[in-house]
Amino acid sequence: MPTANGSKGPSPLRVIPLGGLHEIGKNTCVFEYGDDLMLVDAGLAFPSDGMHGVNVVLPDTSYLRENHKRIRAMVVTHGHEDHIGGIPHHLKNFDIPIIYGPRLAMSLLQGKMEEAGVTDRTTIQTVSPREVVKVGQHFTVEFIRNTHSMADSFTLAVTTPVGVVVFTGDFKFDHTPVDGEHFDMARLAHYGEQGVLCLFSDSTNAEVPGFTPSERAVFPKLDQHISQAEGRVIITTFASSIHRVSMILELALKNGRKVGLLGRSMLNVIAKARELGYMRAPDDLFVPIKQIRDLPDRETLLLMTGSQGEPLAALSRISRGEHPQVQVKPSDTIIFSASPIPGNTISVVNTIDRLMMLGAKVVYGKGEGIHVSGHGCQEDQKLMLALTRPKFFVPVHGEHRMLVCHSRTAQAMGVPADNMLIIDNGDVVELTPDSIRKGDPVKAGIELLDASRNGIVDARVLKERQQLAEDGVITLLAAISNDGALAAPPRVNLRGVVTTADPRKLSIWAEREIGWVLENRWKQLSRPGNGKAPEVDWVGLQREVEIGLQRRLRRELQVEPLILCLVQPAPAGTPPYKRKSEPAAAGEGRPAGRPRREEGDQQPSGRTRRRRSAAVGAGQGR
Ligand SMILES: [Zn+2]
Ligand SMILES: [Zn+2]
Repeated sequence: MPTANGSKGPSPLRVIPLGGLHEIGKNTCVFEYGDDLMLVDAGLAFPSDGMHGVNVVLPDTSYLRENHKRIRAMVVTHGHEDHIGGIPHHLKNFDIPIIYGPRLAMSLLQGKMEEAGVTDRTTIQTVSPREVVKVGQHFTVEFIRNTHSMADSFTLAVTTPVGVVVFTGDFKFDHTPVDGEHFDMARLAHYGEQGVLCLFSDSTNAEVPGFTPSERAVFPKLDQHISQAEGRVIITTFASSIHRVSMILELALKNGRKVGLLGRSMLNVIAKARELGYMRAPDDLFVPIKQIRDLPDRETLLLMTGSQGEPLAALSRISRGEHPQVQVKPSDTIIFSASPIPGNTISVVNTIDRLMMLGAKVVYGKGEGIHVSGHGCQEDQKLMLALTRPKFFVPVHGEHRMLVCHSRTAQAMGVPADNMLIIDNGDVVELTPDSIRKGDPVKAGIELLDASRNGIVDARVLKERQQLAEDGVITLLAAISNDGALAAPPRVNLRGVVTTADPRKLSIWAEREIGWVLENRWKQLSRPGNGKAPEVDWVGLQREVEIGLQRRLRRELQVEPLILCLVQPAPAGTPPYKRKSEPAAAGEGRPAGRPRREEGDQQPSGRTRRRRSAAVGAGQGR
């Protein structure tokens, strides 16, 4: 067995979250001991405002790519997108020998892998409650049934050479679960009794006092709204909220309404869940959407995606009058049985507004009793701590303030402040039987995928898209002669740029910028061609012009459009274009003459300024 620094005791267990901290989403965690790497979940997150054209956010997996040979297995806690959504993408980059997980999650994952064409990159193995699997030389994992908004969800007890780590996954203590599958608290208590070295626990609702109500609690309110509705009932929730969907189907049956399903994930998840027996509903309860229009409104319930205001989801399209099959009627009752994930609030309220403007009755919001969280509140978190009695504690699955709140709860429960860590993605938790500390972090960050799910949108692409969206684009076209002079006035084009500036002024600035670069940088950017055309670093030259003009626009007009400069060599023999003397009409209040960049630069960045003066100095020295 390897030892730490060749000294006493076993080397530390390393637990490295690559996603899911300081955020809700893309939960991805690595357990590492000796030569063994075990992954726990690999989720995705959805883009925030300003991530133009980005569909999916994934964690940076450089660390896994570098160490892929040591990956022994992945264990999955449950089938929510923020826990399995990243797996098909990662499988394009590295193999995972085997993935263990609950039946429902594995079935959903199988579909995603088929779609991505990566089924040959791993083996899927479903596990049952209390099943134990061995991963590599150093890990033994027991799957403990827990309760959550998703059916078939697990908490993990991972036995390692330094002790037992309990990894809660997403949970709440629901004592009346819709599917009758109870939280296996006896098993948690068993580990607590034997001694848990460290608890990694779900912090989503750490700020909320009390217990999270049972999923069953929404049943009466939903029943009331459905039974009192005069016309159609339209309900939106997460497709993956299996228990909620089950109850809605039960209520449809009870109230004599046929169910029409809209949205790909709704159809997909319900089909899988029914096939595996997680949802019981007779076949004739469902009517294809095209036929359901022939039924009386009072006998109709439409269940659809769009609870988060996602622009392409069914309910959002209906609210914009863009759905081919369903139009809102004033007699409709529309129920939002979900609460917005932080970041989606604005799109949700906009959808509600549009639906109300179409005359429908819309039921939404916290006070209505039509939604409960799938995550435990403070009292649930205390119960988890009480059952497991961990020596060390690490709050996970939450934004920073939630992690802080959760750590306070743990302190109140008697875990010493020195025995817990608040960590960020990429931090390394090093655990020994009697210590917890942060090791050197590994690379962590985000990868953004666009609609194709193949192209990675890096930081530069994202910045350019933001500039395009917010300030538009300016293109510059210029022809340069062999000896580094402008052959004609540059052509300037604006798209999406709002400015009060005279277009002529922009042309003059562009011309000056090019002039400055040619005058001061031509020698560095070109090599004489011995009679032939010189070799010129056109890209470098364009970049210099773009940076210079950008700086001027930011300073003079407070806009930051994307600038695209295209420079071409002028045909040989083109006479240099003689710039007209600076027109006073430019109105800059500056003496006309040779444009000098430095004179107007009040606050250039230190780096740029140094580089420029050095360049000018070098030019003069020759
Ligand atoms: Zn979940
Ligand atoms: Zn989650």
